[in-house]
Order: sequence, then structure tokens, then C-alpha cells
Amino acid sequence: MSENQKEANLPIAPFPKNVVMSGIRPTGMIHLGNYFGAIRNYVRMQDNFECYFMVADLHSLTTHPDTSLLKNQVKRVIAENIACGLDPEKASFYCQSHVRETGELYLYLNMLAYKGELEKTVTFKDKVRQHPENVNAGLLTYPVLQTADIILHRASHVPVGKDQEQHLEMARNFVVRFNHRYGTVFPEPHAFNFDQELIKVPGLDGTGKMSKSENAYSTLYFGDDNDLIRKKVMKAKTDSGPTEPNSPMPDYIENIFQLMSLVSSDDVIKKYKSDYDNCSIRYGDMKKQLAEDMVQFMAPIRQKTNDLLANDEYLVKVMKDGAEKAGNSARKTMELVRNAMGLNYF
Ligand code: AMP
Repeated sequence: MSENQKEANLPIAPFPKNVVMSGIRPTGMIHLGNYFGAIRNYVRMQDNFECYFMVADLHSLTTHPDTSLLKNQVKRVIAENIACGLDPEKASFYCQSHVRETGELYLYLNMLAYKGELEKTVTFKDKVRQHPENVNAGLLTYPVLQTADIILHRASHVPVGKDQEQHLEMARNFVVRFNHRYGTVFPEPHAFNFDQELIKVPGLDGTGKMSKSENAYSTLYFGDDNDLIRKKVMKAKTDSGPTEPNSPMPDYIENIFQLMSLVSSDDVIKKYKSDYDNCSIRYGDMKKQLAEDMVQFMAPIRQKTNDLLANDEYLVKVMKDGAEKAGNSARKTMELVRNAMGLNYF
């Protein structure tokens, strides 16, 4: 690229249109937060966008170094995503470690990421608090690896939950730095949700969020059986109800309404909202209703997951096909990257 082109910030090669990329770590079973924060958007986007979705097995090594369970967990996450509606014929659906170019791009980006900014990342600080015995460099550079995953396909749309907002901001910073230093190779990636606002699905205990590896009793997993779903919902924190009409809602009650808004009908939500406002609400009934609506929503996905898990050949084929499609895209991008960086000596 000429110096003039570089100065005008013109892309080295035209940006691809509306490429989508996102990933989920195989650190446990998929839960309601993964579905409403991420997977639902994958399914909505796969028809109209060029999509790359990935099982982030390398990311999981930052907190789960024991790989003995990884194979099964990767397959489970693949099955769960497909059961939720992801179609591997429409999207490239692959396993992160199968696309080796990720490691190369991660290395280059590490030279553009500064220790100070990485240490300030909220997710890093949380992980340090949770696992002070395992503060490894991979954990520190987690947002760098995530950036490599995204821009490896020159993606601009990243369907993620609210917890990823800061990582996406960092990804944009790394992209701006790369483009400025070596020439404009990458579009700036943005977190994306069809409903506009990014979502955080709260835990049932009224604190924190649903999570794969923490907060197990407050999280509804697609692998939970119907009785466990009911038990967890019935244990959600409530109180004796409002005593004044139209009282403000405590957080933990708002959370129950938020969960209801994900799976219950408008009529049901309206009824409980009006019961709340006129102080006649019975939280026991509300939770029973929520539990049944959850079971109705979650049980078919669990069933479909189990069917898919019984078909190992199909899951392996999905991984191989996905690796090929994602690999083709990655190799094209890395040509541009090496050329832009001048790492093409002959
Ligand atoms: P992870 O489980 O951390 O690998 O996250 C996979 C995807 O699910 C990411 O896009 C997260 O933002 C999203 N996600 C995880 N937990 C939640 C939650 N409680 N609410 C909304 N989105 C979530």
C-alpha cells in the first residue's frame, strides 16, 4: 500500500459487508443467559449475514486448564447451539483451536496491547478475585485473543451479552491501533443485539448474572431436567409483596419479571404486573407460572441436544466443515495482515 493510501486510511482491500462473529466457551452447559444474550441473535442473523460462530476452547484454558473433559464439553456446546436453532449449513460453526491462524494474529495483536489497559479490564479483575492462584498471562490477554477471533474474519457485528461490552471497546482500540500503524485492514467491530440494548440475564437469586461456571443454583441450564428447573425457579428470592399501590420494584422482583418477559406470554406478564401494582400479587403463583413456562421453553431444546449428542459422527462433521470454512476466511485475512505488516520477505 502506498503512503498516501495509508494516510487517507483507505482499506487495503474493500471491507467485507456485514460479517458476523461470536463465540461461546465450553466451560459448562449452555444457560438461559447464553441463549438470550447471544445464541438467539446468532439464529436471527444466520439467514442474512456471513456468520462465523465458534466454540472458544482456547479461551476456556485461561480458567479451566484441565483438558480431560474438554472433548465432551466442546461437543455438548456444539449440540446445544444447534438445538437452539444455529444452522451449520448457513453459518460457519467451528472450534477455535481448529483455526491455527488465530494464534498468529493473537501474537501480532499482543504487541499492540498494553499491560496497563489489560489490567484494568473488569472481567480480568473479577477472575483475579475468583482465582488468585491462577493469574496467568492468557487471562490478562483474554481480550486480545477475543479480538483476534473477531477480526480474523474482518467481522463488524458481534452478537454478545452486556458483559462483553468492555471487551468490544478494547477490540476497537486494538483495531484502530493496527490500522493506524500498518494500514487499514480491519473494520471496527461492534457489539450487536437485534433488540438494540445488550442483554444481561440476571441470576435467580437476584444478584449477579446467570453463568456457566459460577452461581449454579441461580442459573437455568438447558441440561437441567424439568424438576430441577421448577426447584430453582421456586427458590428465587421474593418477599411478602408491596403494601402501597404502584410501589417501586425491588431488584430481585424486577429480575423475576425480566425472566418472565423472556418466556411467558404478554397476557401473563400483564396480569402479574397489574397484581403487583394493586398489591394482590402472589409470588408463589407467579413463580409456578414462570417455572412451567420455562419448562415449556427449555425441555424441547434439552431433548434435541440429547438426540444430537447421540450422533457423534454428525458433530464431528459439523466441526470439520466449520473448520474448513473458517480456515478459508482466516487464510485470506492473514495474507492481508502479513502484507500490511511487511512480513512478506520473498
Ligand atoms: P460465555 O458463557 O462467557 O462464554 O459467554 C457466551 C456468550 O453468552 C457471550 O456473548 C456472553 O455475553 C453471553 N452471556 C453469558 N452470560 C450471560 C447472561 N447472564 N446474560 C446475557 N448474556 C450472557
